[in-house]
Amino acid sequence: MDRSEYSNHWRIGDIVVTSVVEQSFDWSAPGFLFPDATNEVVQRHRWLVPDYADSEGNINGSVQALVIDQAERRILVDPCVGNGRSRFLPNWHMQEFDFMDRFAGAGFTPESVDIVLHTHLHADHVGWDTYLQDGVWTPTFPAARYVYVRDELEWHKESWDPDRREVWQDAISPVFDAGLADVVECDHDVGGGISLAPSPGHTGGHVSVWLRSHGQVGLVTGDFMHHPLQFAEPGLREIADDNVELARGTRRSMISQASQLHALLIGTHFAFRSGGRVVPSGEGWQFNPD
Ligand SMILES: [Zn+2]
Ligand SMILES: [Zn+2]
Repeated sequence: MDRSEYSNHWRIGDIVVTSVVEQSFDWSAPGFLFPDATNEVVQRHRWLVPDYADSEGNINGSVQALVIDQAERRILVDPCVGNGRSRFLPNWHMQEFDFMDRFAGAGFTPESVDIVLHTHLHADHVGWDTYLQDGVWTPTFPAARYVYVRDELEWHKESWDPDRREVWQDAISPVFDAGLADVVECDHDVGGGISLAPSPGHTGGHVSVWLRSHGQVGLVTGDFMHHPLQFAEPGLREIADDNVELARGTRRSMISQASQLHALLIGTHFAFRSGGRVVPSGEGWQFNPD
């Protein structure tokens, strides 16, 4: 992969958003994300080619963190899978990603992060909250306040399975132990034009991040959607969606708002060109990358 693919920038008024990609998925049949989708379903939507689908109807994706820069502070959203984790999915188990090198290569230091936000607490959104230092899981961003949504924390503990327990133990609990955690409500105003909005269904307390500056609007999706195919097929359930019907309603509502506001939508799991505008098309929408 060319180095330029490791990061991507967008501007929303005075806010600058930079993507730092941890991992990219190879072209794959859509079933790995969407159990009800076939290659033929993807091929119906030709605008997905070449950025998000190939001519055979295979799709791509990524795991990326987003860095939001304002004059007075730096916010990191959804810091990926992390290294050395015991995880259920082989792609995430005991990995040695060069994410922190990429983070440094994009001009960022761990000490420069003021706030860490999480759209939800799945393993691929909290990983770099901590790293292993001399055998102890230690907060990666020592000067940051780490923000957790109360509903999501409660849902995470209620739906306790071995994977969630491990995420709690190695990525979340050390941050609380270090006194760096803030628990907020799902509509929390982060200040400076940045706010959380509930977008539940994928998980119980899932939120998305709205960015507003000088009349411009941006939206960081989190996992209310996973791939631009879902603009055209908003009813398509993703394999990890917890409450499928709630997730469908949320997806339609959030996409519709982004379209009406002409927002720059940044898809957390979209591949390289992950920011763009949404326009109505047929029964759904289409995505035009910026
Ligand atoms: Zn998720
Ligand atoms: Zn995810």
